[in-house]
Amino acid sequence: MKILIINAGSSSLKYQLLNSKTKEVIAKGNCEKIGLSKPFISYKHNGQEQTFPGAKNHEEAIEKVLQILTNKDYGVLKSLDEIEAVGHREITGGWIYNKSELITDELLKQLKKFDELAPLHNPANVLGMVACRKVMPNTPQVAIFDTAFHQTMPEKAYTYAIDYKDSQKYHIRKYGFHGSSHRFITLEAAKVLGKKVKDVNLIIAHLGNGSSITAVRGGQSVDTTMGLTPLQGLVMGTRCGDIDPTVVQFLMNKKKMTVDEVMNYLNKKSGLLGVSGVSSDHREVEAAAKEGNKRAELADEMLCYSVRKHIGSYMAVLNDVDAVVFTGGIGENSAATREKIISNMENLGIVLDKKKNKNFKRGQVELISDAKSKVKIYVIPTNEELMMAMDTEEIVKKLKKSK
Ligand code: AMP
Repeated sequence: MKILIINAGSSSLKYQLLNSKTKEVIAKGNCEKIGLSKPFISYKHNGQEQTFPGAKNHEEAIEKVLQILTNKDYGVLKSLDEIEAVGHREITGGWIYNKSELITDELLKQLKKFDELAPLHNPANVLGMVACRKVMPNTPQVAIFDTAFHQTMPEKAYTYAIDYKDSQKYHIRKYGFHGSSHRFITLEAAKVLGKKVKDVNLIIAHLGNGSSITAVRGGQSVDTTMGLTPLQGLVMGTRCGDIDPTVVQFLMNKKKMTVDEVMNYLNKKSGLLGVSGVSSDHREVEAAAKEGNKRAELADEMLCYSVRKHIGSYMAVLNDVDAVVFTGGIGENSAATREKIISNMENLGIVLDKKKNKNFKRGQVELISDAKSKVKIYVIPTNEELMMAMDTEEIVKKLKKSK
Protein backbone atom coordinates (compact mmCIF):
# COMPACT_ATOMS: atom_id res chain seq x y z
CA MET A 1 0.00 0.00 0.00
CA LYS A 2 1.40 3.45 -0.96
CA ILE A 3 1.06 5.78 2.00
CA LEU A 4 1.94 9.45 2.29
CA ILE A 5 3.29 10.48 5.70
CA ILE A 6 3.00 14.14 6.66
CA ASN A 7 4.75 15.92 9.51
CA ALA A 8 3.46 19.50 9.53
CA GLY A 9 5.18 22.24 11.52
CA SER A 10 4.26 25.92 11.70
CA SER A 11 6.38 26.87 8.66
CA SER A 12 7.44 23.50 7.31
CA LEU A 13 5.82 20.32 6.07
CA LYS A 14 7.88 17.15 5.76
CA TYR A 15 6.52 14.44 3.51
CA GLN A 16 7.47 10.87 2.77
CA LEU A 17 5.82 8.49 0.32
CA LEU A 18 6.28 4.89 1.42
CA ASN A 19 5.31 1.46 0.30
CA SER A 20 4.20 -0.13 3.54
CA LYS A 21 4.59 -3.66 2.15
CA THR A 22 8.12 -3.41 0.75
CA LYS A 23 9.12 -0.71 3.30
CA GLU A 24 10.60 1.22 0.38
CA VAL A 25 10.77 5.03 0.59
CA ILE A 26 9.51 6.07 -2.85
CA ALA A 27 10.09 9.81 -2.42
CA LYS A 28 10.53 12.32 0.36
CA GLY A 29 11.19 15.96 1.02
CA ASN A 30 10.32 19.07 2.92
CA CYS A 31 8.29 22.19 2.19
CA GLU A 32 10.34 24.81 3.98
CA LYS A 33 9.65 28.42 4.96
CA ILE A 34 5.91 28.11 4.25
CA GLY A 35 4.39 31.61 4.20
CA LEU A 36 7.83 33.22 4.66
CA SER A 37 10.18 34.81 2.13
CA LYS A 38 11.78 32.49 -0.44
CA PRO A 39 9.87 29.31 0.44
CA PHE A 40 11.05 26.13 -1.29
CA ILE A 41 10.27 22.44 -1.56
CA SER A 42 12.94 19.74 -1.60
CA TYR A 43 12.23 16.46 -3.37
CA LYS A 44 14.34 13.30 -3.22
CA HIS A 45 13.65 10.18 -5.27
CA ASN A 46 15.76 7.46 -6.90
CA GLY A 47 18.94 9.00 -5.52
CA GLN A 48 18.22 12.38 -7.12
CA GLU A 49 17.49 15.65 -5.36
CA GLN A 50 15.53 18.57 -6.78
CA THR A 51 14.24 21.88 -5.43
CA PHE A 52 11.04 23.67 -6.37
CA PRO A 53 9.44 27.02 -5.47
CA GLY A 54 7.60 26.76 -2.16
CA ALA A 55 4.15 27.62 -0.87
CA LYS A 56 2.39 30.49 0.86
CA ASN A 57 0.29 28.22 3.09
CA HIS A 58 -0.08 24.56 4.09
CA GLU A 59 -2.86 23.84 1.62
CA GLU A 60 -0.75 25.10 -1.26
CA ALA A 61 2.23 23.14 0.09
CA ILE A 62 0.26 19.88 -0.09
CA GLU A 63 -1.10 20.73 -3.53
CA LYS A 64 2.44 21.36 -4.77
CA VAL A 65 3.80 18.16 -3.23
CA LEU A 66 1.05 16.17 -4.97
CA GLN A 67 1.82 17.91 -8.27
CA ILE A 68 5.50 17.03 -7.89
CA LEU A 69 4.74 13.39 -7.03
CA THR A 70 2.52 13.03 -10.13
CA ASN A 71 4.56 15.11 -12.58
CA LYS A 72 4.97 13.17 -15.81
CA ASP A 73 8.70 13.93 -16.13
CA TYR A 74 10.08 13.54 -12.63
CA GLY A 75 7.10 12.26 -10.61
CA VAL A 76 6.88 8.82 -8.99
CA LEU A 77 3.12 8.30 -9.33
CA LYS A 78 0.90 7.99 -12.41
CA SER A 79 -2.10 9.30 -10.52
CA LEU A 80 -3.04 10.49 -7.04
CA ASP A 81 -5.32 7.47 -6.71
CA GLU A 82 -2.18 5.41 -6.07
CA ILE A 83 -1.94 7.04 -2.63
CA GLU A 84 -4.25 4.83 -0.60
CA ALA A 85 -3.95 6.71 2.70
CA VAL A 86 -2.26 9.60 4.47
CA GLY A 87 -0.74 9.36 7.96
CA HIS A 88 -0.20 12.57 9.93
CA ARG A 89 2.22 12.96 12.82
CA GLU A 90 0.41 14.58 15.74
CA ILE A 91 2.49 15.79 18.65
CA THR A 92 0.00 14.85 21.36
CA GLY A 93 -3.06 12.75 21.97
CA GLY A 94 -3.25 14.36 25.41
CA TRP A 95 -5.23 12.48 28.02
CA ILE A 96 -7.66 11.14 25.38
CA TYR A 97 -5.89 9.03 22.73
CA ASN A 98 -3.76 5.95 23.36
CA LYS A 99 -3.60 4.72 19.75
CA SER A 100 -3.67 6.05 16.20
CA GLU A 101 -7.07 7.22 14.96
CA LEU A 102 -8.89 7.84 11.69
CA ILE A 103 -9.19 11.61 11.17
CA THR A 104 -12.81 12.75 11.27
CA ASP A 105 -14.50 16.11 11.92
CA GLU A 106 -15.08 14.96 15.50
CA LEU A 107 -11.40 14.02 16.00
CA LEU A 108 -10.26 17.42 14.69
CA LYS A 109 -12.61 19.08 17.20
CA GLN A 110 -11.04 17.07 20.02
CA LEU A 111 -7.49 17.87 18.87
CA LYS A 112 -8.19 21.60 19.30
CA LYS A 113 -8.29 20.89 23.06
CA PHE A 114 -4.56 20.15 22.95
CA ASP A 115 -3.43 23.59 21.73
CA GLU A 116 -2.68 24.52 25.33
CA LEU A 117 -0.54 21.39 25.83
CA ALA A 118 1.58 21.93 22.72
CA PRO A 119 1.06 25.51 21.52
CA LEU A 120 3.88 25.38 18.95
CA HIS A 121 3.19 21.99 17.40
CA ASN A 122 -0.49 21.10 17.84
CA PRO A 123 -2.05 23.92 15.76
CA ALA A 124 0.49 23.26 12.98
CA ASN A 125 -0.18 19.50 12.98
CA VAL A 126 -3.93 20.13 12.77
CA LEU A 127 -3.39 22.68 9.99
CA GLY A 128 -1.63 19.97 7.95
CA MET A 129 -4.53 17.56 8.51
CA VAL A 130 -7.19 20.11 7.54
CA ALA A 131 -5.26 21.17 4.43
CA CYS A 132 -4.67 17.58 3.33
CA ARG A 133 -8.30 16.58 3.80
CA LYS A 134 -9.32 19.54 1.65
CA VAL A 135 -6.94 18.61 -1.15
CA MET A 136 -7.55 14.82 -0.91
CA PRO A 137 -11.16 14.56 0.36
CA ASN A 138 -11.60 10.92 -0.68
CA THR A 139 -8.38 9.55 0.78
CA PRO A 140 -8.56 8.18 4.34
CA GLN A 141 -6.32 10.05 6.76
CA VAL A 142 -4.95 8.86 10.07
CA ALA A 143 -3.49 10.73 13.06
CA ILE A 144 -0.50 9.08 14.75
CA PHE A 145 0.15 10.49 18.21
CA ASP A 146 3.69 10.92 19.53
CA THR A 147 2.36 10.32 23.04
CA ALA A 148 0.19 7.25 22.39
CA PHE A 149 2.80 4.57 23.16
CA HIS A 150 3.36 5.99 26.65
CA GLN A 151 -0.27 5.89 27.74
CA THR A 152 0.41 2.56 29.45
CA MET A 153 2.53 4.28 32.11
CA PRO A 154 1.20 3.71 35.63
CA GLU A 155 -0.25 6.69 37.48
CA LYS A 156 2.71 6.81 39.88
CA ALA A 157 5.06 7.33 36.90
CA TYR A 158 3.08 9.99 35.05
CA THR A 159 1.74 12.07 37.93
CA TYR A 160 3.65 15.16 39.04
CA ALA A 161 3.76 15.73 42.79
CA ILE A 162 1.72 18.94 42.70
CA ASP A 163 -1.81 19.45 44.10
CA TYR A 164 -3.69 16.41 42.74
CA LYS A 165 -6.80 18.50 42.04
CA ASP A 166 -4.79 20.76 39.72
CA SER A 167 -3.20 17.88 37.81
CA GLN A 168 -6.68 16.42 37.30
CA LYS A 169 -8.39 19.67 36.36
CA TYR A 170 -5.72 20.93 33.95
CA HIS A 171 -4.37 17.56 32.77
CA ILE A 172 -0.88 18.43 34.01
CA ARG A 173 1.08 15.16 33.82
CA LYS A 174 3.87 13.35 32.05
CA TYR A 175 2.79 12.37 28.52
CA GLY A 176 6.08 11.28 26.94
CA PHE A 177 7.05 11.70 23.28
CA HIS A 178 8.94 9.93 20.42
CA GLY A 179 6.20 7.28 20.72
CA SER A 180 6.48 6.02 17.12
CA SER A 181 10.23 5.55 17.55
CA HIS A 182 10.01 3.76 20.90
CA ARG A 183 7.22 1.52 19.57
CA PHE A 184 9.12 0.71 16.37
CA ILE A 185 12.23 -0.18 18.38
CA THR A 186 10.17 -2.35 20.74
CA LEU A 187 8.81 -4.36 17.79
CA GLU A 188 12.26 -4.65 16.15
CA ALA A 189 13.99 -5.59 19.43
CA ALA A 190 11.43 -8.34 20.05
CA LYS A 191 12.28 -9.76 16.61
CA VAL A 192 16.07 -9.78 17.17
CA LEU A 193 15.68 -11.16 20.69
CA GLY A 194 13.44 -13.91 19.35
CA LYS A 195 10.74 -13.07 21.90
CA LYS A 196 7.08 -12.15 21.78
CA VAL A 197 6.52 -8.39 22.07
CA LYS A 198 4.52 -8.97 25.25
CA ASP A 199 7.58 -10.59 26.83
CA VAL A 200 10.29 -8.00 26.14
CA ASN A 201 11.77 -5.70 28.76
CA LEU A 202 13.89 -2.91 27.31
CA ILE A 203 15.59 0.38 28.01
CA ILE A 204 15.44 2.37 24.77
CA ALA A 205 17.73 5.38 24.41
CA HIS A 206 16.52 7.50 21.49
CA LEU A 207 19.33 10.07 21.25
CA GLY A 208 19.05 12.76 18.59
CA ASN A 209 18.41 16.49 18.52
CA GLY A 210 15.60 15.66 20.88
CA SER A 211 16.32 12.70 23.14
CA SER A 212 14.32 10.44 25.42
CA ILE A 213 14.75 7.13 27.21
CA THR A 214 11.86 4.74 27.74
CA ALA A 215 11.51 1.81 30.11
CA VAL A 216 9.52 -0.94 28.40
CA ARG A 217 8.05 -3.80 30.43
CA GLY A 218 6.16 -6.55 28.63
CA GLY A 219 6.32 -4.57 25.38
CA GLN A 220 4.66 -1.52 26.98
CA SER A 221 6.03 1.83 28.07
CA VAL A 222 6.09 2.05 31.86
CA ASP A 223 8.16 5.23 32.16
CA THR A 224 9.86 7.74 29.91
CA THR A 225 12.05 10.78 30.41
CA MET A 226 10.08 13.43 28.50
CA GLY A 227 7.17 14.95 30.35
CA LEU A 228 4.24 17.32 29.88
CA THR A 229 6.34 18.65 27.00
CA PRO A 230 9.51 17.40 25.26
CA LEU A 231 11.58 19.74 27.49
CA GLN A 232 11.91 17.32 30.42
CA GLY A 233 14.52 14.62 30.84
CA LEU A 234 17.90 14.34 29.10
CA VAL A 235 20.30 17.09 28.03
CA MET A 236 19.36 17.69 24.37
CA GLY A 237 20.55 19.76 21.38
CA THR A 238 18.96 23.01 22.56
CA ARG A 239 16.75 21.82 25.46
CA CYS A 240 17.91 21.84 29.06
CA GLY A 241 16.20 18.63 30.23
CA ASP A 242 15.65 18.21 33.97
CA ILE A 243 16.25 21.32 36.04
CA ASP A 244 14.92 22.75 39.30
CA PRO A 245 11.87 24.88 38.32
CA THR A 246 13.28 27.64 40.55
CA VAL A 247 15.78 28.33 37.75
CA VAL A 248 12.85 29.90 35.87
CA GLN A 249 12.20 32.39 38.68
CA PHE A 250 15.93 33.07 39.00
CA LEU A 251 16.36 33.85 35.31
CA MET A 252 13.26 36.07 35.33
CA ASN A 253 14.67 38.09 38.22
CA LYS A 254 18.29 38.25 37.10
CA LYS A 255 17.81 38.76 33.37
CA LYS A 256 14.46 40.60 33.57
CA MET A 257 12.93 37.98 31.29
CA THR A 258 9.23 37.17 30.89
CA VAL A 259 8.01 33.58 31.40
CA ASP A 260 7.74 33.15 27.63
CA GLU A 261 11.29 34.38 27.16
CA VAL A 262 12.60 31.96 29.77
CA MET A 263 10.71 29.08 28.16
CA ASN A 264 12.22 30.00 24.79
CA TYR A 265 15.67 30.11 26.44
CA LEU A 266 15.22 26.68 28.01
CA ASN A 267 13.83 25.15 24.80
CA LYS A 268 15.99 26.80 22.14
CA LYS A 269 19.17 28.16 23.73
CA SER A 270 20.09 25.58 26.33
CA GLY A 271 21.28 21.95 26.21
CA LEU A 272 24.43 21.23 24.15
CA LEU A 273 24.19 24.68 22.55
CA GLY A 274 23.86 26.59 25.81
CA VAL A 275 26.60 24.73 27.67
CA SER A 276 29.13 24.48 24.79
CA GLY A 277 28.43 27.84 23.17
CA VAL A 278 29.47 26.03 19.97
CA SER A 279 26.47 24.25 18.47
CA SER A 280 23.37 22.19 19.14
CA ASP A 281 24.72 19.59 16.72
CA HIS A 282 26.40 16.77 18.58
CA ARG A 283 29.02 16.13 15.88
CA GLU A 284 30.20 19.73 16.10
CA VAL A 285 30.29 19.60 19.90
CA GLU A 286 32.30 16.35 19.79
CA ALA A 287 34.73 17.88 17.29
CA ALA A 288 35.19 21.05 19.39
CA ALA A 289 35.75 18.93 22.52
CA LYS A 290 38.47 16.97 20.67
CA GLU A 291 40.19 20.25 19.84
CA GLY A 292 40.29 21.09 23.54
CA ASN A 293 37.21 23.31 23.95
CA LYS A 294 36.41 22.79 27.66
CA ARG A 295 32.77 23.92 27.46
CA ALA A 296 32.14 21.54 24.54
CA GLU A 297 33.77 18.74 26.53
CA LEU A 298 31.53 19.53 29.50
CA ALA A 299 28.39 19.61 27.31
CA ASP A 300 29.23 16.18 25.87
CA GLU A 301 29.99 14.78 29.32
CA MET A 302 26.69 16.15 30.65
CA LEU A 303 24.74 14.52 27.82
CA CYS A 304 26.39 11.13 28.45
CA TYR A 305 25.94 11.47 32.21
CA SER A 306 22.24 12.28 31.91
CA VAL A 307 21.69 9.21 29.69
CA ARG A 308 23.73 6.98 32.01
CA LYS A 309 21.79 8.14 35.07
CA HIS A 310 18.44 7.38 33.46
CA ILE A 311 19.59 3.95 32.26
CA GLY A 312 20.51 3.23 35.88
CA SER A 313 17.15 4.42 37.19
CA TYR A 314 15.26 2.33 34.63
CA MET A 315 17.33 -0.73 35.57
CA ALA A 316 15.87 -0.23 39.05
CA VAL A 317 12.35 0.29 37.65
CA LEU A 318 12.45 -2.87 35.51
CA ASN A 319 14.86 -5.09 37.47
CA ASP A 320 14.83 -7.66 34.67
CA VAL A 321 16.06 -6.14 31.39
CA ASP A 322 16.60 -8.00 28.10
CA ALA A 323 18.40 -5.21 26.30
CA VAL A 324 19.51 -1.60 26.25
CA VAL A 325 18.89 -0.25 22.74
CA PHE A 326 20.52 2.81 21.20
CA THR A 327 18.78 4.65 18.39
CA GLY A 328 18.39 8.17 16.88
CA GLY A 329 21.08 10.25 15.13
CA ILE A 330 23.51 10.18 18.07
CA GLY A 331 22.58 6.73 19.38
CA GLU A 332 23.02 5.10 15.97
CA ASN A 333 26.11 6.98 14.84
CA SER A 334 28.35 7.97 17.73
CA ALA A 335 30.37 4.98 18.99
CA ALA A 336 32.29 7.29 21.33
CA THR A 337 29.06 8.44 23.00
CA ARG A 338 27.81 4.87 23.42
CA GLU A 339 31.10 3.89 25.01
CA LYS A 340 31.08 6.86 27.41
CA ILE A 341 27.51 6.08 28.46
CA ILE A 342 28.00 2.35 29.01
CA SER A 343 31.51 2.15 30.53
CA ASN A 344 31.76 0.89 34.15
CA MET A 345 28.29 -0.62 34.29
CA GLU A 346 29.57 -4.20 34.84
CA ASN A 347 27.96 -4.41 38.26
CA LEU A 348 24.59 -3.67 36.65
CA GLY A 349 25.21 -6.54 34.23
CA ILE A 350 25.74 -4.22 31.24
CA VAL A 351 29.06 -4.81 29.44
CA LEU A 352 29.94 -3.29 26.07
CA ASP A 353 32.11 -5.07 23.49
CA LYS A 354 34.24 -2.03 22.63
CA LYS A 355 35.50 -3.51 19.35
CA LYS A 356 32.02 -4.38 18.09
CA ASN A 357 30.82 -0.96 19.18
CA LYS A 358 33.57 0.80 17.21
CA ASN A 359 33.46 -1.38 14.10
CA PHE A 360 29.70 -1.26 13.80
CA LYS A 361 28.48 -0.30 10.31
CA ARG A 362 25.78 2.34 10.17
CA GLY A 363 22.21 1.60 9.20
CA GLN A 364 21.92 -1.95 10.45
CA VAL A 365 20.79 -3.81 13.55
CA GLU A 366 23.84 -4.83 15.59
CA LEU A 367 24.52 -6.53 18.90
CA ILE A 368 27.34 -4.60 20.58
CA SER A 369 27.43 -6.19 24.05
CA ASP A 370 30.16 -8.47 25.35
CA ALA A 371 29.33 -12.20 25.51
CA LYS A 372 29.42 -12.00 29.34
CA SER A 373 26.93 -9.09 29.49
CA LYS A 374 23.73 -10.15 31.27
CA VAL A 375 21.84 -7.38 29.51
CA LYS A 376 22.28 -7.28 25.74
CA ILE A 377 23.15 -3.98 24.07
CA TYR A 378 21.88 -3.24 20.57
CA VAL A 379 22.01 -0.45 18.03
CA ILE A 380 18.75 -0.48 16.08
CA PRO A 381 18.05 2.21 13.45
CA THR A 382 14.70 3.81 14.12
CA ASN A 383 12.11 4.42 11.41
CA GLU A 384 9.29 6.58 12.69
CA GLU A 385 7.77 7.09 9.24
CA LEU A 386 7.55 3.35 8.63
CA MET A 387 5.88 2.87 12.01
CA MET A 388 3.38 5.59 11.10
CA ALA A 389 2.77 3.96 7.71
CA MET A 390 2.20 0.57 9.35
CA ASP A 391 -0.33 2.11 11.74
CA THR A 392 -2.07 3.95 8.93
CA GLU A 393 -2.29 0.78 6.85
CA GLU A 394 -3.82 -1.18 9.72
CA ILE A 395 -6.53 1.41 10.33
CA VAL A 396 -7.33 1.80 6.65
CA LYS A 397 -7.56 -1.98 6.17
CA LYS A 398 -10.03 -2.19 9.07
CA LEU A 399 -12.01 0.68 7.56
CA LYS A 400 -12.20 -1.09 4.19
CA LYS A 401 -13.32 -4.34 5.84
CA SER A 402 -16.09 -2.58 7.74
CA LYS A 403 -17.54 -1.09 4.55
P1 AMP B 1 18.28 13.15 14.86
O1 AMP B 1 17.55 14.24 15.58
O2 AMP B 1 17.89 11.77 15.28
O3 AMP B 1 18.30 13.32 13.36
O4 AMP B 1 19.84 13.27 15.29
C1 AMP B 1 20.58 14.43 15.04
C2 AMP B 1 21.80 14.42 15.92
O5 AMP B 1 22.61 13.27 15.63
C3 AMP B 1 22.71 15.65 15.71
O6 AMP B 1 23.11 16.17 16.95
C4 AMP B 1 23.89 15.05 14.97
O7 AMP B 1 25.09 15.76 15.21
C5 AMP B 1 23.97 13.68 15.59
N1 AMP B 1 24.78 12.79 14.77
C6 AMP B 1 24.53 12.32 13.53
N2 AMP B 1 25.58 11.59 13.07
C7 AMP B 1 26.53 11.61 14.05
C8 AMP B 1 27.84 11.06 14.20
N3 AMP B 1 28.39 10.34 13.23
N4 AMP B 1 28.50 11.30 15.36
C9 AMP B 1 27.96 12.02 16.34
N5 AMP B 1 26.73 12.56 16.28
C10 AMP B 1 26.02 12.37 15.15
